[in-house]
Amino acid sequence: MTSERNAEPWKWAEATWRGHVDRVRAGARLTPDRWPGDARVAVAISFDSDHETIPLRDGETSPGRLAQGEYGARVAAPRILRLLEEHATPASFFMPAVSALLHPDEVEAYVSGGHEVAVHGWIHERNTLLSHEDELDLTGRAMDTLVKLAGTRPTGIRTPSWDFSDHTLDVIRELGFVYDSSLMADDEPYLLLADGDPTGIVEIPVEWIRDDAPYFTMDRYASLRPYMPPRSALQIWVDEFDAARAEGGLFQLTLHPHIIGHRSRLVVLQDLLEHIRSHDDVWFATHAQIADLIAPP
Ligand SMILES: [Zn+2]
Repeated sequence: MTSERNAEPWKWAEATWRGHVDRVRAGARLTPDRWPGDARVAVAISFDSDHETIPLRDGETSPGRLAQGEYGARVAAPRILRLLEEHATPASFFMPAVSALLHPDEVEAYVSGGHEVAVHGWIHERNTLLSHEDELDLTGRAMDTLVKLAGTRPTGIRTPSWDFSDHTLDVIRELGFVYDSSLMADDEPYLLLADGDPTGIVEIPVEWIRDDAPYFTMDRYASLRPYMPPRSALQIWVDEFDAARAEGGLFQLTLHPHIIGHRSRLVVLQDLLEHIRSHDDVWFATHAQIADLIAPP
């Protein structure tokens, strides 16, 4: 695949470009006619508890960069857990194994708060740089680590940075996951096809639009440092929720403790939860609960 990728794509035979497109593809939509409790919309809030693994995965070890991640565990995660408890809202926490090993008490706090803990790689590695063997090994060790620390076997995976390699779907099947949450082919959950064949794996799709990172992160050494007032993101997410509710669908959100957990930003999540809670036809669920509900038998 890699050598072909470097070749001139305008010379590819039809079978080649069709093959790439069909490798991992969206199958049937899985949105039920009605969500549990006769709810009109499902809400799945998730956090990627990356913490120090964002610099570590690139080999960056400066205490300055690591401290930004440490903030996520030290300040933001407890703050987020309190907010979720106040709003009686379950969430899914996707946590790299290295982050979980650095913060085992945090994993326990997620579990005792009634939240889901799911796989998010070993050290937030970039899957597209790995061989199939290495990706399987790291994902398997990530799974084993969370089993030990969380006390239950995760049923879901989110690839670090949503970086999905040619082997990722094979790894997901080899390790027996029920669902993935890394792809973007729909607003609604769907079945994953591999080379045209149904896999039985549920995809709970994500989008950069429903993610805090693109709005609030910056590269200190880049010339452009975009920043937007956090409450502007609130408007985007409220619109996404309102439209999902109008369509009887799913509102899924991806946040990061080290990004959203700051004082001027967590108010956005608070206001968003208040907006969602002002409707009485909402089903709050973890990603695992949604996958369990809609996965084919
Ligand atoms: Zn991440």
